Amino acid sequence: MRINKNIETIRNTIDDKMAKLGRQSEHITLVAVTKTHSVEAMETALKAGVSHFGENKVQEAIHKVPLLSVPYEGFHFIGHLQSNKINQLLSLKPYLIHSVDSTYIAQKLHLALGRTNRFQDILIQVNISEEATKSGVSFSNAIQCVEEISRYSTLCIRGLMTIGKLDKPEVSRPLFAKMKALFDEIKGLEIPNVNMDYLSMGMSHDYLIALEEGANMLRIGSAIFGQRAIGGNF
Ligand SMILES: *Cc1c(COP(=O)(O)O)cnc(C)c1O
Repeated sequence: MRINKNIETIRNTIDDKMAKLGRQSEHITLVAVTKTHSVEAMETALKAGVSHFGENKVQEAIHKVPLLSVPYEGFHFIGHLQSNKINQLLSLKPYLIHSVDSTYIAQKLHLALGRTNRFQDILIQVNISEEATKSGVSFSNAIQCVEEISRYSTLCIRGLMTIGKLDKPEVSRPLFAKMKALFDEIKGLEIPNVNMDYLSMGMSHDYLIALEEGANMLRIGSAIFGQRAIGGNF
C-alpha cells in the first residue's frame, strides 16, 4: 500500500508542478528506480500504473527482470555499463540505456547490436557536476561525443542524462539549467540520427528542481520504495 500511496503522491506533485509551470501538455516519463528492491515491490509499482522502471546493475537486472509477471512498457538501464555485460543487458531488451558515457562503450554496443541486427535507443550521460566519482562525458566534450556516437548506425541518441549533486536540491539547479541549455543546443544542431526527446534528470530529492529546469524524464527510487538498505551507489 505504501508504494501505491507514494506513487500517487509523486504523480500529484508532478502534475501540480507542471500546471504551475504552464507545461501541462508536456509528457513527463516517471522511471521507478527499483535497484535493491524485490520483484514483488517492482510488480506492486507496475500494478500501480508506473510502466517504466530502471536498474543500475546488469547482474541484478538479469535476475529480476525475467521474473516479472506484470506487463511493462520499458526497462531502463541507468548504471555504468561495462563492456563485458553488454550481451546480458541486450538480452533484457532495454527500452532505453541512459548511461552511455564514452565513445568506447558506444562502439562496443554497436558491435554487439550489429551481430544481431538490432537497434537501441540511448541517452548520453553527462557528468555535469564534474565529480570524479561519477560517470559521464564531460560538459565540454559532450557535443563532440554526441557527434561521434551518432555515426553508429545501430544506436539512436534520444537525449541526455545527468545525476545532480547528492546535496541540498538547490545546489543542482544551475547544473540542471546547464544541461537544459546543452540539450537545446544539440537539438538545434540537427545532427542526423540524433533525436533530442528526453532530458533524464531529477531523483527523489531533487526532481522538482529538475522539472523546473526542463527535465521530462525523472528517475525516482527511494521516494517510491523507501530507503535502500544496501547498494544504491551510482
Ligand atoms: C539510484 C538512482 C536513482 C534514484 O535515486 P533515489 O535517490 O532513490 O531516487 C536515479 N538515478 C540513478 C542513476 C540511480 O543510480
